[in-house]
Amino acid sequence: MSPLDSPATAEEPVIRLVPTAEERLLRESVGAIAARYGQKYMIRCTEAGEPPTEMWDELAEHGYVGANLPEEFGGGGMGMTGLAIVQEELARHGCTQLLLVVSPAIAGSILTRHGSQAQKERWLPGLADGTERIAFAVTEADAGTNTHKITTRARKTAGGDWQITGQKTYISGVEHATAILVVARQELDDGTLGLPLLFLVDVDGPGMTRQPIATALRMPDRQWTLFFDHLTVPAERVLGGEIGGLGALFDGLNPERIMAAAGALGGADLALEKAAAYARERVVWGQPIGAHQGIAHPLAECKVEVELARLMTRKACALYDAGWKGAGEAANMGKYAAAEAIVHCVDHAIQTHGGNGVALEYGISDMWWGARLTRIAPVSREMILNYVAEHSLGLPKSY
Ligand SMILES: Cc1cc2nc3c(=O)[nH]c(=O)nc-3n(C[C@H](O)[C@H](O)[C@H](O)COP(=O)(O)OP(=O)(O)OC[C@H]3O[C@@H](n4cnc5c(N)ncnc54)[C@H](O)[C@@H]3O)c2cc1C
Repeated sequence: MSPLDSPATAEEPVIRLVPTAEERLLRESVGAIAARYGQKYMIRCTEAGEPPTEMWDELAEHGYVGANLPEEFGGGGMGMTGLAIVQEELARHGCTQLLLVVSPAIAGSILTRHGSQAQKERWLPGLADGTERIAFAVTEADAGTNTHKITTRARKTAGGDWQITGQKTYISGVEHATAILVVARQELDDGTLGLPLLFLVDVDGPGMTRQPIATALRMPDRQWTLFFDHLTVPAERVLGGEIGGLGALFDGLNPERIMAAAGALGGADLALEKAAAYARERVVWGQPIGAHQGIAHPLAECKVEVELARLMTRKACALYDAGWKGAGEAANMGKYAAAEAIVHCVDHAIQTHGGNGVALEYGISDMWWGARLTRIAPVSREMILNYVAEHSLGLPKSY
């Protein structure tokens, strides 16, 4: 099947090249809030070791953290197109919210498409108003990129509940989350591991402990290793059914990629704006350094890269929102292109600033590891190239 084939139920996707009035208003309103907080607020939270709660609450109060969720459950009804605008605009002000990626985008999308009516009623209103924040835990140290190899296991008890045992690593934002969407494989009667299932577990309940991972990132959301030791999860917390975990999971991974792309695009805009402003003003040989093509051309190339990546990300949003299968290809390509764009933008912004590129005052060096991260997570550039080689070009799978 071609990546652009679609289920019969999908709507006709529409990519608007010019944003609608509603999209423009959303961008302006989010931008106005983000401008009041700015990069300095996020650095203050990072240094204090605290999540960006105040900003999250203000965004939530206005309904922006649930922009993608269905209106009948209190969301904005704007799909991933809307939530991507929120993240892009926040990132453009240096205020990327990692929890937006995992909570409304991954968990919210899966709940919307695969939750039972009772689960939707239980979880979606809280996700939409920001009081419920769900982290996402799939990565394991020994499995890495090969998520088929995860060994966190879920055993069904005689009473119908589940018990989860295992470890997860690099799980973001647990300190600010109320629940975690955990991917675990069903332990079969003979002790072997079956298909992955999705569980909504409470943060820090009995049976779960966590340790922070120290990283170079200058962003407030922290990463954690989680340990589950016979963590009991009631049957109603299984999401996507007892055989449908894998399919449901995929409906969360495309929104995750779209959000990673959106954050990268906003960050790339910010780095480019800073670089261009500096290049217009800094004079060392009697004219602004931006007059030298050695400075101007790399920035112009970056601008082209960013705009192309934006277009692909917008396509991914339109396809995803319409329920189109080809969303996977576009989400991967948008994420790949946006990650390359932000790495190039931040690198050239540092170069344009000369020695000031490393000064904390200019806020460029603070962006470096966040930019660099986008090539690794949530999916690495190599795994995206594997996907494109195999699915878009029909080349043999190499691993
Ligand atoms: C800051 C941060 C936040 C994160 N947040 C979360 C989170 O909230 N939840 C969560 O579940 N996970 C999270 N992760 C984990 C993240 O998704 C993984 O780190 C990422 O998917 C890469 O997996 P790995 O680190 O195990 O790399 P590995 O699988 O060990 O790969 C190492 C390198 O080898 C390459 N490689 C591996 N296989 C192949 C192949 N077949 N072909 C070519 N190259 C290959 C990879 O691309 C990579 O460059 C986070 C990670 C970081 C760093």
